[in-house]
Amino acid sequence: MEPLQSLRGMVDLLPEQTPVWQRIEATARQHFRRAGIAEIRTPLLEVTELFARGIGVATDVVGKEMYSFLDRGERHCTLRPEGTASVVRAAIQHGLLSQGAQRLWYGGPMFRYERPQAGRQRQFHQIGLEFLGLADPRSDAEAIAIAWDLLAGVGLAGLTLELNSLGSHDDRVRFRAALVGWLEERRDQLDPDSQQRLVSNPLRILDSKNPATQALLAEAPTLAAALAPESRERFERVQEALSRLEIPFVLNPRLVRGLDYYGHTAFEITSSQLGAQATVCGGGRYDTLVQQLGGPVTPAVGWALGMERLVLLAQAADGPASQAAPAPDLYVVSRGAAAEALALPLARRGRRAGLAVELDFSGAAFGKQFKRADRCGARWAAVIGEAEAAEGVVVLKDLRAKATADRRLTAEALLAWLRESGSA
Ligand code: ATP
Ligand code: MG
Repeated sequence: MEPLQSLRGMVDLLPEQTPVWQRIEATARQHFRRAGIAEIRTPLLEVTELFARGIGVATDVVGKEMYSFLDRGERHCTLRPEGTASVVRAAIQHGLLSQGAQRLWYGGPMFRYERPQAGRQRQFHQIGLEFLGLADPRSDAEAIAIAWDLLAGVGLAGLTLELNSLGSHDDRVRFRAALVGWLEERRDQLDPDSQQRLVSNPLRILDSKNPATQALLAEAPTLAAALAPESRERFERVQEALSRLEIPFVLNPRLVRGLDYYGHTAFEITSSQLGAQATVCGGGRYDTLVQQLGGPVTPAVGWALGMERLVLLAQAADGPASQAAPAPDLYVVSRGAAAEALALPLARRGRRAGLAVELDFSGAAFGKQFKRADRCGARWAAVIGEAEAAEGVVVLKDLRAKATADRRLTAEALLAWLRESGSA
């Protein structure tokens, strides 16, 4: 029978890969804890309307990337393609917004039906931050600083922060008219997708991945020129705050995000090492989303970073050595029925004492078991043979300093000795 395969774009993380993921997740958790940001976990499955209303029906995400289906109760369900809409829904549903500003983070799998390639999958993972109820331009800078420092904490260098202001709703209405007017005159030079967006969602054209369209856009009117004085002033204050934090940024007047809810600050953190999938982290301000989803008027800012792309960069920065799984402290070798009977509880007692213990179940010759002990990188081996079993002792071997004499100890004495020697 043919063995079954995972679905296209759905990726297994094998044991050799999980240590780097765990390290990044631990770094992220530490950064969030220090900044007083609490974790929120929401369901992977939501009503489809949440994303249609939240992200916008004319976006790629809602238009062609969602995993949507009818459940057995005929409800329209969607596997979450991003986290913000769910976090906002949960905050509204549980009345969090009446309890003051919410500083929240989330992490986990997201689902988008895209063409899989390096750094682009159908199930991928994000870590994200949302500040709900904060309007101050400094909160935009703080959100960005947390992302920036987290990425630096993971060991990444050579990142670029690209920044833009999408202005207010009115600014965008004004800009949209100018952009559409300009592009209408050059309609024949646009790719078919962008021609369609000219009607459905013209600002999305700025995000086109088509090179010819991108070249044409270099000459197009910019949002920056359409910003009202208040919007411009707000943007300047964000930039000032970033400068005070000594976070370098480049202004990118063509930067728009893939989701419709953004206004004012929009940013991306990119790396030249990621090829076409250059963006590790993207986010911005979304002051209208909470209301759009039925909540009270609530200013908000947030971001999401792509774990797969972050892992690619972390691996490139680290080299393979630091990615090895941690070695056990103690490897338990035994042979013969009586010895094997003692080895099982010894391993458990070792773990209770705080040691990382691996137990050899092979019953193979001692030489073979020792070889495995060496290969796994354990510091010590506890050896129980028939003679030791009869005597009620264990032989402790130092696998790093092989010349050191072995010790014959009772199980208690062995664990006490390892604890005192600092192994546990
Ligand atoms: P892109 O332009 O690369 O498609 P996006 O604008 O759709 O990104 P966001 O919705 O802002 O991405 O998500 C934030 C981050 O999540 C991205 O910067 C990226 O690192 C990651 N990401 C998005 N889609 C995928 C995917 N299909 N596979 C892996 N990572 C992804
Ligand atoms: Mg995308």
